[in-house]
Amino acid sequence: MNIHEYQAKQLLRSYGAPVSDGRVVLRAEEAKTAAGGLDGPLWVVKAQIHAGGRGKGSFKEADAGEKGGVRLAKSVEEAAEEAKKMLGKTLVTHQTGPAGKQVNRIYIEEGSDIETELYLALLVDRVTSRVSFVCSTEGGMDIEEVAASTPEKILSFSVDPATGYQAFHGRRIAFALGLEGAQVKQCVKLMGQLYTAFIERDMEMLEINPLIVTDKGDLKVLDAKLSFDGNALYRQSDVAELRDETEEDPKELQASKYDLNYIALDGEIGCMVNGAGLAMATMDIIKLNGAEPANFLDVGGGATKEKVTEAFKIITSDKNVKGILVNIFGGIMRCDVIAEGVIAAVKEVGLQVPLVVRLEGTNVEQGKKLINESGLNVIAADDLKDGAQKIVAEVKG
Ligand code: GDP
Ligand code: MG
Repeated sequence: MNIHEYQAKQLLRSYGAPVSDGRVVLRAEEAKTAAGGLDGPLWVVKAQIHAGGRGKGSFKEADAGEKGGVRLAKSVEEAAEEAKKMLGKTLVTHQTGPAGKQVNRIYIEEGSDIETELYLALLVDRVTSRVSFVCSTEGGMDIEEVAASTPEKILSFSVDPATGYQAFHGRRIAFALGLEGAQVKQCVKLMGQLYTAFIERDMEMLEINPLIVTDKGDLKVLDAKLSFDGNALYRQSDVAELRDETEEDPKELQASKYDLNYIALDGEIGCMVNGAGLAMATMDIIKLNGAEPANFLDVGGGATKEKVTEAFKIITSDKNVKGILVNIFGGIMRCDVIAEGVIAAVKEVGLQVPLVVRLEGTNVEQGKKLINESGLNVIAADDLKDGAQKIVAEVKG
């Protein structure tokens, strides 16, 4: 789960991290009071969306102005004006996709004078199964680009969970970032605060781009992107409250309410599968046959008829879906439950696209019988390969 920059900064501030003072604005009328509550002489007006690259982004609406989603202002009036221009408009960045994202919140912050922009991240490294620090002198840029063109400018190392964060980790980062004197001490302290926040709050990623050295020579968190482990939200209730559902894919949101493992993708073939491994194999074989999956969906082992019905409805609500492949290997999951769910969902929402069903395993005969007697226009498949070929043939016509 992701949160907004201003929420991330509030959270990091509670761990002692140096961030500027700022105010969030939800309505244009609030902009002037918000900016007026902050000291100048520089204000930064920042669109709050769950995507990076805002500074270099652009708005779809002409009246939002020419500048991107991060704007500098020299007065309270100017800051309020920029906030008003951006509110409600659609910001497109390289991370939002061409559709962009509507800006519903603006963060106005006391401006900083920047000496240097640095990069810092903490993440769960799945190779070492540890938390890793990643840092670079190339802040304010796309880290993917730095990694591709000048990988030697990135330092990355993991922290032994038995010792946790140690001062030498911080010094190593300070050295790699070219920090000097008092900054080294600041860095050691800040990295410790970030590491503690990361562990205590069950984060998956913490990215500060840029971490800056101000004109006075101090470290400051200028941008912050936090993402949390969704499986740990049950014990992070104050983090869970920061969830902004308007930032999420409505289909994924609906799926999460039914505890379905669903991820929306861009393709044309909707998939309903049980088991994450089988779901991935199904996506692979669709691609192998020349089409693209519209989603990843693992209905899980003990799915009920209601859950299967909901899953099927979510798939059919996707306008890009031109065909559906149901691929079930019934172990714990029973094929007749899947069949009942599919039939119930089709009765409710209808079936506008071809449907290929491959059932195998527990209660397969009952499942097939239910589907055959339902009067649904289902194309039966014998195995995974057959199923993929049949649905791709239907969709590609
Ligand atoms: P992003 O584009 O979504 O990553 O948003 P950032 O918060 O990283 O801001 C983009 C860029 O705006 C930064 O890399 C800075 O160069 C600039 N910027 C942001 N805040 C300030 C500020 O307080 N003062 C100055 N001078 N520039 C800022
Ligand atoms: Mg940034």
